[in-house]
Parts: sequence; C-alpha cells; structure tokens
Amino acid sequence: MTTLYCACCGQPFRRSSPRGPAPLYCSRDCRRQIEVRRRVWASLRAAERTAAAPLPPVVPAGAGAFHRVETVWERASA
Ligand SMILES: [Zn+2]
Repeated sequence: MTTLYCACCGQPFRRSSPRGPAPLYCSRDCRRQIEVRRRVWASLRAAERTAAAPLPPVVPAGAGAFHRVETVWERASA
C-alpha cells in the first residue's frame, strides 16, 4: 500500500484502490476545498491582471486649459 499525501490538508492517507490514477485528496471534502480555492485563485488572478493592465494616465478633460486660465488669473491679480 502506498501512502499518499493530501494535496489539500497535507495529511497522509492510503489510496483505497490500487487501480486508476492516484487520488490527490484524502477525502471528498478536501477535493471540494481545492475546487473552491481554485475558483478564488482564478478570480484573484483575473483581478490582478486587470489591475496590472497598463492604463493611460487619468487626466481630467480641460485640466490643461483650467491651469492656463488659473496662471493668467494669478498674473493678472499680482
Ligand atoms: Zn485532505
């Protein structure tokens, strides 16, 4: 009998059947846990990708014009 280690909780367990692919998880609960985590990781990765995406610098429309007007106003009042 081979002792396997659960990919979820890390606990050693024995595979119930020598046939078929080796199971990764000690129980169905652990299998479900990993499925939930994978879903969370996938959504986190997607969020990171959108956050890391290069965005053009946000400049409000008319900011340059407003600054110019302000400078002119300061000069005029000085
Ligand atoms: Zn487990």
